[in-house]
Amino acid sequence: MAVTEITQQATRLDELIADQEAGFMERQKKSAATQERAREFLAGGVTSNWQISRPATIWLSRGSGSKVYDVDGNEFVDMHGGYGVMAVGHAHPAVVDAVSRRIQQGSHFAQPTEDAIIVGQELARRFGLPLWRFGNSGTEATMDAVHLMRAVTGRDLIIKVEGTYHGHHDSLQVSVYQEEPEIGPADRPNSAPASAGIPSAITDLTLIVPFNDLPALQRTLEERPGAIAGMICEPIMMNAGIIPPDDGYLQGVRDLTREHGVLLAFDEVKTGITTAPGGAIERYGVVPDIVCLAKAMGGGLPCGAIGGSREVMEAIAEGDYEQVGTFNGNPLTMAAARAALTIALDAAAYEHFEHLQRLMVVGCNEIIAEFDLPAYVLA
Ligand code: PMP
Repeated sequence: MAVTEITQQATRLDELIADQEAGFMERQKKSAATQERAREFLAGGVTSNWQISRPATIWLSRGSGSKVYDVDGNEFVDMHGGYGVMAVGHAHPAVVDAVSRRIQQGSHFAQPTEDAIIVGQELARRFGLPLWRFGNSGTEATMDAVHLMRAVTGRDLIIKVEGTYHGHHDSLQVSVYQEEPEIGPADRPNSAPASAGIPSAITDLTLIVPFNDLPALQRTLEERPGAIAGMICEPIMMNAGIIPPDDGYLQGVRDLTREHGVLLAFDEVKTGITTAPGGAIERYGVVPDIVCLAKAMGGGLPCGAIGGSREVMEAIAEGDYEQVGTFNGNPLTMAAARAALTIALDAAAYEHFEHLQRLMVVGCNEIIAEFDLPAYVLA
C-alpha cells in the first residue's frame, strides 16, 4: 500500500473515531455525567483501569440474555461479555434460580458446601484432571499455579510466553505489552516488568520465550538445567488478538517440559469452558500438570480454579503449599458455577457457540471483502 493511501486511511479512521465519539456523547449523556460523579470517590472514576475508555466509560444498569442496557437506556448486543465471562448470557434463569435459592440460606461461611464437590466433579470430567481447588479470579488461579509449581519442584524459575497476560501478580506481570527497546530480541525476549510497582527482583525469576517457538523453549530449558520449576502458557493466545498454537506446538511443549522435569500449567482462564466444554485441553488433546480456570466457569460470579494431576495436587493436600483464601469455594460462586456448568452450558449451548462463530466469520469476511479492508478473520 502506498504511503499516501495509508495516510488517507489513517485520516479517515480519525474522522470515523471523532464521529463515533460525538455520537456517544450525544447518546450517553448520563454515562458521561455518572463518570464525573464517580471521579469524586473512585480512583480514575472507575472500578478497574480497564474500564477507563474514550470518550467516557459506559455505565450499565442491567443485562438480559445477549443484551445489556446502559444508564441512558440504550440497548446493546453484548459482544464484550464481561471479558468472556458471560458465556451463559446475562441473568440466565438457571443461574438466577441457583443463586437466589442459595443466598436465602446464607452467602458465606468459609466452610465448604456440597456444590463445590459437584463443580469439582464436573471440571474433572471436562478437563481430565482429577483434583481441584477454587479461588476468586484468574489472577489467583495463575498465582496458585506458579506457587504450586515452585512448591512441588523446590525451584524458583518460571517460563512464560512473551506478550501473554495471566493476571496482575508479580511473577507473571512480565513481558506483557512491552514497547521497544524493553521488549528485547525476538528470539530471547526480556523479562521486563509490565508496569510500575512490579519489582525486577521477582520478574528476573521469570524467563520469557516466544510463542510457537519450540527451539527457543528447548534452548531455555537446556540453559538452566535443574533450576526451572515450570512453564505457564495460554494454549491459544487470547490477549494479543487470537493466536492459535501451530500444529504440534502444545505437544512439543508437553514433551520438552516433561523431558526436563519441568511442570506445565495451561492458563485456560479465557479458553477453558468457552472454546469447548473441556477448553483447549479437549480441543488439542494435550494435558498439562495444572490448568487455571476463571471467567465463564462461574456463570458471572467472581471465580477461579486450579485443577491438577494427583502428584501435583498432593502438595496442596499435604499442606506443602497452602492454597487458601477466605472466599475460596464461596457458596454463591459454587451455586452459580454448578448451574452454569451442569445446566446452562450443555451440548446445545456449545453447538450454539459454533453457530454464532460461523455467523461472525462469514459476516466479518463479507465486510472485509466489501470494503477491501486490510484485515483477516481467524476462526
Ligand atoms: N489469564 C488470562 C488469560 C486472562 O485473560 C485474564 C484476564 N483477562 C487473567 C488470567 C486474569 O483474570 P482476572 O482478571 O480474573 O484476575
